[in-house]
Amino acid sequence: MSQPRTYPSEAVELPLRLDAEPGPVPDCAGCTELANVRDRARAGGDMTTVSDCNVFLRRHPEGH
Ligand SMILES: [Zn+2]
Repeated sequence: MSQPRTYPSEAVELPLRLDAEPGPVPDCAGCTELANVRDRARAGGDMTTVSDCNVFLRRHPEGH
């Protein structure tokens, strides 16, 4: 008895996981500054600073 496999273990392909970057909170000078620094760092290829800025942006609710 052979059962046709109608549903072979189908790997669900997740979309390429990009790091969701936090956006600056409107009217927050700290966030705006961090976003600017992040943009400049990214333009210069300084991904360490980019991720540092992301960390601070995520911490907005706790204060910068
Ligand atoms: Zn902020």
